[in-house]
Amino acid sequence: AAPLAETDPELAAALKHELARQQDGIELIASENIVSAAVLEAQGSVLTNKYAEGYPGRRYYGGCLYVDVAEQLAIDRARALFNCEYANVQPHSGAQANGAVFLALIKPGDTILGMSLAAGGHLTHGAAPNLSGKWFHAVQYGVRREDGLLDYEELERLARAEKPKMIIAGGSAYPRVIDFARIRRVADEVGAYFLVDMAHFAGLVAAGLYPSPLPHAHVVTTTTHKTLRGPRGGMILSNDPELGKKFNSAVFPGLQGGPLMHVIAGKAAAFGEALKPEFRTYSRAVVDNARVLAETLMEQGLDIVTGGTDSHLLLVDLRPKRATGKAVEASLERAHITANKNAIPFDPEKPAITSGIRLGSPAATTRGFGTAEFREVGMMIAEVVDGLAKSNDGTNEAVEAAVGARVKALCARFPIYAAR
Ligand code: PLP
Repeated sequence: AAPLAETDPELAAALKHELARQQDGIELIASENIVSAAVLEAQGSVLTNKYAEGYPGRRYYGGCLYVDVAEQLAIDRARALFNCEYANVQPHSGAQANGAVFLALIKPGDTILGMSLAAGGHLTHGAAPNLSGKWFHAVQYGVRREDGLLDYEELERLARAEKPKMIIAGGSAYPRVIDFARIRRVADEVGAYFLVDMAHFAGLVAAGLYPSPLPHAHVVTTTTHKTLRGPRGGMILSNDPELGKKFNSAVFPGLQGGPLMHVIAGKAAAFGEALKPEFRTYSRAVVDNARVLAETLMEQGLDIVTGGTDSHLLLVDLRPKRATGKAVEASLERAHITANKNAIPFDPEKPAITSGIRLGSPAATTRGFGTAEFREVGMMIAEVVDGLAKSNDGTNEAVEAAVGARVKALCARFPIYAAR
């Protein structure tokens, strides 16, 4: 068969340019990673052709004998990885996994209590524009103004006053360990289900470097593509097989149709990799590198929300340099460093501007960067921010060009997808 470059050069060019962008730039978006050739192979396989509504051994279509093998491998490996009784690997994404849990356990109009987006929570934890904020009575807790740490006292006060049906912990921009046992206690006190969305730190949990929520939560959801380094997708885990039956019905036929069997094969491949000792070595480097990046930026005069990180991500407060998240994101991108602007807690700027950037170590660690390289990355980020702070008109061309050349050299020392 003819390659894509011949049948559809326009699309092939977009793919080629994206590959080059990933190869030649430093990826610091905390929710991204670089999957292995094995995960890419599984995901790019003929399993995409197969309908398999139902679950292994109980399908609504014929011809499922091999996709059953792939899905059962993913389930068994997920259970081994997180030491739990139940896993559903079919959610198409993290948002779908959360949607299925809501469908299984609560009803429209019920009260839910989650961390606000502004404090580092996720859209699906009750934010106003999301289904979780529209269909439920969403009450939101945050972090403490004085130190940026999760405000457990506020959470407990809101739980007692509002009597939610579900309490949600986890988030997209919270860098510290969460006290799951403490939240479970108040959930039990008010009769709420406790959902932990570990999307960001799931890989660290798998590696034993972040406390597992599974002994404490009724249900745990995750994406599979962040620290876990699998294909883009979602998953539901629990230690309660009775709840598991409800989650299975909620995913299919409740919320989804046919599972993405090629993605599930990619999940199986990634979980197999995460079960190997090398994944723990990798995850340890992810945490060490994030810490070094935070230390370097603080030495260079930037603030880090909560004063550091326990995980793979950090939230940089740019206000000491009078720079905005929007300007820093754009300037870093011109220097071939990708990151995202992010509101800091109690941010005085609008969400489209922000006073912060969120940085994460998972992707660059995958390509082999260690603490020396992350120190260099921190110095380059500080130079870009200082260059912006000094310019009168928001331009920063000379610094961007000089840093961009160093980025290119660093990436050349740690190549990815060399055979593609
Ligand atoms: N939950 C958390 C905590 C997340 O950070 C994200 C993604 O950023 C999601 C859920 C949603 O995942 P997806 O983008 O796969 O729907």
